[in-house]
Amino acid sequence: MSERYDIAIIGTGPAGLEAAINAKIRNKNIVIFGNKDLSPKLAKAAKVNNYLGLYNLTGTELKNKFADHIEDMGVEIVNEKINNVYAMGDYFSLMVNEKVYEAKAIILATGIEYTKPLIGEEEFLGKGVGYCATCDAPLYKGKTVVIVGYNKESVEEANYVSELSGKTYYIPMYKGEYNLNENVEIINNKPLKIVGDDVVTKMILDQGEIATDGIFMLRDSVSPSQLVPGIEIENGHIKVDRDMKTNIDGCYAAGDCTGTPYQYMKSAGEGLVAALSAVSYVDKLHENK
Ligand SMILES: Cc1cc2nc3c(=O)[nH]c(=O)nc-3n(C[C@H](O)[C@H](O)[C@H](O)COP(=O)(O)OP(=O)(O)OC[C@H]3O[C@@H](n4cnc5c(N)ncnc54)[C@H](O)[C@@H]3O)c2cc1C
Repeated sequence: MSERYDIAIIGTGPAGLEAAINAKIRNKNIVIFGNKDLSPKLAKAAKVNNYLGLYNLTGTELKNKFADHIEDMGVEIVNEKINNVYAMGDYFSLMVNEKVYEAKAIILATGIEYTKPLIGEEEFLGKGVGYCATCDAPLYKGKTVVIVGYNKESVEEANYVSELSGKTYYIPMYKGEYNLNENVEIINNKPLKIVGDDVVTKMILDQGEIATDGIFMLRDSVSPSQLVPGIEIENGHIKVDRDMKTNIDGCYAAGDCTGTPYQYMKSAGEGLVAALSAVSYVDKLHENK
């Protein structure tokens, strides 16, 4: 059986990192999922003037400070995207493609997506629309698949899908080099709408349309309700109390995903509170055994 961690943290922005260092200080066995670049939103800021003690830094400089801090404290990031989290009673199962991690408590620090779902995306979720191409690729053996990629990691997923599918289209939603297999066709049009009957039949673009069996929307994060079935959402954000606890025992949230203001310091502060709450929760679990 795989190791069961005390606390799993999902997200490597300021909220997740602050949670990680505090849980580590409290001697908890932690795992943190995200990416080695920490957070795309950290690197993007031209100048940050409202982070106490770190004045007049660029986003990249601030990111580097965070990276040095966690490295010195021995916090290692697992470079994986969590697709689903299931509450199993006194622990959680975290699904990463075909792998499963287990933790007694979790902290959601996934940030927020500024991009709205496409028309038809939610309606056809699970009926041809998915968020994890590598998980569902075998369903589309010999069929047509459209991948809408919001980041460079999605290229890898497109390449994997193209080895099984009959035809793979890739719609990049960012500028850059796309290191795609030769049999993947790049479409430089804007996706507007997903349509179908019982299942997906096509994607409508600003210029033309593509008949397809499956569509994968590969963004940096998935919506919290998709990530953690049963989690309570209020006004588009995860509902938390002052201890950063959600409606699910052992599940905490911090940062932009809990609501405005969307700021680094607020995110870090919430990450700290969430970590301390998760630590008490795990300690109580042990006492009750
Ligand atoms: C251009 C720009 C400038 C900004 N300037 C400022 C500023 O000057 N001052 C300020 O205070 N704030 C600023 N902000 C806002 C600030 O960036 C956010 O408030 C802050 O980054 C939120 O931190 P977070 O930890 O909640 O989430 P994020 O920083 O968004 O980090 C979330 C992380 O979780 C990862 N993740 C999500 N889902 C999963 C999953 N399922 N599995 C694994 N990993 C996952 C994401 O990839 C990401 O790395 C700015 C934002 C932008 C875009």
